[in-house]
This record gives sequence, C-alpha cells and structure tokens, in this order.
Amino acid sequence: MTIYVTGHSNPDTDSVTAAIGLAALLNAQGQDAKACMQSTLADLNPESTVVLEKFGLTAPEEMMDCSGKTVALVDFSDIAQGPAGLGDADVVSIVDHHKLGDVTTNQPILVRCEPVGCSGTVLNKMYKDAGVTIAKDVAGGMLSAILSDTVNFKSPTCTDDDKAAVAELKVTAGVDDTDSLFMSMLEAKSSVAGVPAKDLVFRDYKDFDMNGNKVGCGQLELANLDQVADIREDLLNACKEVKADGRHTVLLMLTDVVKEGTQLVVVSDDVALIEGAFDGKLDAATESMWIDGMMSRKKQTVPNMQKAFGC
Ligand code: MN
Ligand code: MN
Repeated sequence: MTIYVTGHSNPDTDSVTAAIGLAALLNAQGQDAKACMQSTLADLNPESTVVLEKFGLTAPEEMMDCSGKTVALVDFSDIAQGPAGLGDADVVSIVDHHKLGDVTTNQPILVRCEPVGCSGTVLNKMYKDAGVTIAKDVAGGMLSAILSDTVNFKSPTCTDDDKAAVAELKVTAGVDDTDSLFMSMLEAKSSVAGVPAKDLVFRDYKDFDMNGNKVGCGQLELANLDQVADIREDLLNACKEVKADGRHTVLLMLTDVVKEGTQLVVVSDDVALIEGAFDGKLDAATESMWIDGMMSRKKQTVPNMQKAFGC
C-alpha cells in the first residue's frame, strides 16, 4: 500500500518540500510513501522550482485526483484545498501548522499540527522524535520552506521553534548564509517579468468560504512595490475577472517584504465591509489601500475578513 503525500492546491514551497520530507520520513520508517503535489513541474511556482534545483531535489509527482488512494496531508487539512476525491480518500496522516480543516476519517490517524510558522518546523521535530537523520537535500528543502513561510522570520506567524529549526537544518543542508538563500528565493518568487496578470493573482492564491460568501485572496510578496508599478491596472482587471467568476470578494495582497506592509487591492460586492475589516479607505484610482505591518494572509488578512463577515 502506497501512501501518497500531498500539500495544498497551488502548492507553495512548504507544501512541496514537506511532502518530500514526510514521504522520506515514512520511507525511512519502512513505509511505502510517495511525495506528490497538485501541480506539474512546469506549472510550479518559480520559488519552489528554484529550491528544487538548488538542493537537487526530485520534484513530487503530479496528483490532481486522489480517489481511492491512501493519502497523507501536509500543510493543509481543508478538503477544498486538496486533490479531487479527498473527501472519500483514506487519510492516514496530517502534518500541518494551520487551523484544523474539515477532513474526517474512519480510523484513528497520526495528526501533528502545531501553531508554528511552517510545516517544515513540525517535520523537523518529527524526524528528531523518530531518531531519523534528515538527508542533506531534504533538509535544504525544509529550511527553504521555513524561510519562505516566515518571510525570513519577519512574519507574525514566526515562532522561536521556527528559528531553532532553521539553526539545525542549515547545518544539515550545508547552508552558511540563510539571508542570501532567502533573497534568491524572493527574487525568483517576486519576478513578474512576462507573467500574465491573472497568473500572478493565482500564484499564491486561496479561496475561502466566509459565511456563505466565496472570498478569494492572492498574495504577491515583492522586494518592493515598484516591481509591479507598470502592471497595477492589469492586476486590478485580473482581480475583477476572478471576482466575476462567482465570488463576493477578491483581495490581492501586494506585500512589500522589506517595508513590511501590504498594498491591498480590493474588488468586492461590499467595499465598505472590507474597508471596515482593515480600518482603511480605498484609494479610488487604484482600488487599493496600504496597510502597514500586514504580512500574513493566514494570521492577519483572513481573521480580519472572517470577523467582518461574522464567521
Ligand atoms: Mn502553504
Ligand atoms: Mn506552510
């Protein structure tokens, strides 16, 4: 019996490398596990592609449908973020650092969820608890994921556990300078050259159900906002297109990682509600507002939205 290990849809570096890391741990423990992702390698986000190349990791296999399969989930536990057929699949394990989702099981399973900044941090603990040494390439992937998810320790989701995991993993991975690793990832991630605006909206994007309303939120982490100065109108129009596809609201977080804030593009049936959620006022020309200190969709944007929607 093969356990197919997968992260969430629109996979980010944590979803990709945690699938690799958990599959490797399960294999080391004598189980047959295979790392998967909900993407082809060609469609994978540029940051994760760079990480796979840099550490010589084999890309997880594409798995868009897990009907009838035995699966382990990393970095999510919401059915909506999983492959098709997840609701009926046999889930045997969840390793995550998000709010608990709606996956249910018929059997007792291994769940390891912690309120830390990255699934890689949880996995690092699991390796230690199991007494299994992390392979150099796998450690490089997990290290990259922690730097990515915590925005090089700047995100409010970052904990001391994440910093401790980085200190350990960088040694195993043979990485001296994690700042320069982060910057090379950021450059790859924030490159917008030649990418269609709609692809940029979906680069790191999630849909949420907020009290019966479909709300989408994309995030582009940028070294600075100038990177998107020439395509702001295209991005706004792409958001409008995405919203027109049955959504109440589409948000696009243009996050300036260096200034530590977000220019939030808002397209909504109820603009006043969104303005209230963030105590701000949209600039009429750009349909966006600057929110100082906003870095995390999970910890800042989504909770404020849920509150506004009365979830
Ligand atoms: Mn993720
Ligand atoms: Mn994560």
